Amino acid sequence: MLSAKYIDVHTHQNHTTDQSIIAIQNAESSFISSISSSLYYSYGIHPWRILDGHIDEKLNHLYTLASQNQIVAIGECGLDKAIDTPFEVQQQVFQQQINLSKTFKLPLIIHCVRAYSEILALRKKFPEGCWIIHGFEGNETLAKQLISKNMHLSIGSALFNPKSKISRSIEHISILRLFFETDDRNIYSIQEIYEQASKLLGLNSDDLKVQIFRNFVACFQMQINDP
Ligand SMILES: [Zn+2]
Repeated sequence: MLSAKYIDVHTHQNHTTDQSIIAIQNAESSFISSISSSLYYSYGIHPWRILDGHIDEKLNHLYTLASQNQIVAIGECGLDKAIDTPFEVQQQVFQQQINLSKTFKLPLIIHCVRAYSEILALRKKFPEGCWIIHGFEGNETLAKQLISKNMHLSIGSALFNPKSKISRSIEHISILRLFFETDDRNIYSIQEIYEQASKLLGLNSDDLKVQIFRNFVACFQMQINDP
């Protein structure tokens, strides 16, 4: 077994210097000229960004990145009922990204606000591939519904809030379905998030790290070389 690294499955920060972490960095639209082979990127059309610029251009850009193997996942993308962008438009754009994830066999990193029933319905239509709900903070019932549809849940700094639903529901989530992330917050490092999760799960932190690494290799179909 290769030595397991920490997986930060969704971040907006740059982790190039820390060799103990594999980070999937959310690429901002201008990143293409600065792409580096030492980092993994995801790219997608976030529901908040649908209305800035031409959607076809962005989809073409995404297609190009995926076809040139410059990204390892599509996202973040998804559905958000707390914004003004018409929901039907959001659904169209999301569905096009689901199609691309199928075409290129790339995982989807999903942003979901108050639209879980729609995500579950879409998953029924598209049961294949690795779908990761990022920033998951839901309760046990919702977690179990998503997991029963073969989805993964990525959890971040909410684990440090003892009043958060996720700090109580995490123990009901199979570790085969878990990921962790720093997202756009840098209060806690990915190592601290793993540490907190292993406390809440009552698990040895090395065992947790190995399992999450396995989830990553399986989900992203990665060939990882030991440095
Ligand atoms: Zn994010």
